[in-house]
Amino acid sequence: MSLPAPQLRLHRTMAAWAQDELGGIDAAAGDEAALAVFRTLARRGVFRYVTPRGSGGARRSVQARDLCVIREALAAVSPLADTLFAVQALAAYPLAAAGTPAQRQAYLPRLAAGTDVGAFALTEPDAGSDPGSARLRARRRGGFYVLDGVKSLISNAGLAQLYIVFGRTHAARGGKGLSAFVVEADTPGVAVTERVALISPHPIGTVSFARCRIPESQLLGEPGKGLEIALTTLEALRCSVGAAACGMATRALTEALRHARERRQFGRPLARFQAIRFKIADMATELEAARLLVYQAARAHDEGAADLARISSMAKLFATEAAQRIVDESLQIHGGRGLVEGSIMERLYRDIRALRIYEGTSEIQRLIIAREVLGRA
Ligand SMILES: Cc1cc2nc3c(=O)[nH]c(=O)nc-3n(C[C@H](O)[C@H](O)[C@H](O)COP(=O)(O)OP(=O)(O)OC[C@H]3O[C@@H](n4cnc5c(N)ncnc54)[C@H](O)[C@@H]3O)c2cc1C
Repeated sequence: MSLPAPQLRLHRTMAAWAQDELGGIDAAAGDEAALAVFRTLARRGVFRYVTPRGSGGARRSVQARDLCVIREALAAVSPLADTLFAVQALAAYPLAAAGTPAQRQAYLPRLAAGTDVGAFALTEPDAGSDPGSARLRARRRGGFYVLDGVKSLISNAGLAQLYIVFGRTHAARGGKGLSAFVVEADTPGVAVTERVALISPHPIGTVSFARCRIPESQLLGEPGKGLEIALTTLEALRCSVGAAACGMATRALTEALRHARERRQFGRPLARFQAIRFKIADMATELEAARLLVYQAARAHDEGAADLARISSMAKLFATEAAQRIVDESLQIHGGRGLVEGSIMERLYRDIRALRIYEGTSEIQRLIIAREVLGRA
């Protein structure tokens, strides 16, 4: 895979930094652990890559290749750090793309510095893969919008100072009836009503909005454009989920190589058995292919390619599915030791699973790819 010089430099420094600073710290779950990791990321300046230079960012515009390089490095060492970085990007991207100058100035530098934690609130209990059916109401009252409803499975719920919220401003217009809002977490009526524990460390929960009044200046983009803003954001960042998958798969492959060389059975290292060698060959090949697709999709974003939807969905689908297989094969090579609670393989087995679900499941990626390939046939 070939990267431009700035991303190559980032690639070289991020992996070593992540290993030194984050190696082994996220075995513990909980908000304090998550905030400690978040502050470490902020000190390293990684959040500068989620906003444009005019708003405290590192580059003139947000580069998907930066996000991929960073996520690949973080995910190989600390899936929690990867999650925190990814969600900050999810919150910043719509603000950078659709925010007014005043909104960008008010919020983006704080996200870039890591002073504020961001969140992206689209999913609802009855609206997951079909976000156009979201029901959270946003009624216009004088110079305000009043938000009523529930958002579920929201990453950073409880940690965030800032939520990008998608709510219905027009009753009868399906996906077109949604609008986007910037909502500060301490606004009266905003409450984290549930926290859920996932199989891998990940701050996540339900956020409720009850008669939550926000000035109309908090509307993000035009009324009725909320779903478009959400989908554009997801399309742009999807390849970075694939990059995180590559990071975890790289770790799984490294562990498999080490174990296959060290572990001896029938008088020889596992690495001498053809069955194991074929597994390793397939894992390495799939990882290489995944990485090529991911960085091709990231480049498509950065160069404004017209077929971003197709290639970014392919990258997420292929990389996350391949990474799942690679982690599973690595665990198989580890035998019973791979199942020991707290071992790296047991953790990777848990960590990789969410990537085939969030930001559009594998099935939804296939629907997008088929639509793009078939057209309206
Ligand atoms: C770790 C994690 C973090 C998350 N963070 C956030 C966040 O920060 N913000 C946010 O808004 N959301 C977040 N989500 C929610 C996530 O986006 C949804 O879980 C995802 O979109 C799927 O929705 P769902 O869980 O309701 O599943 P459902 O939509 O109910 O789908 C269930 C199953 O049916 C399949 N399915 C659904 N429709 C179709 C179809 N038309 N054709 C074929 N199969 C279909 C799905 O692929 C899936 O396998 C997060 C989820 C996870 C797991």
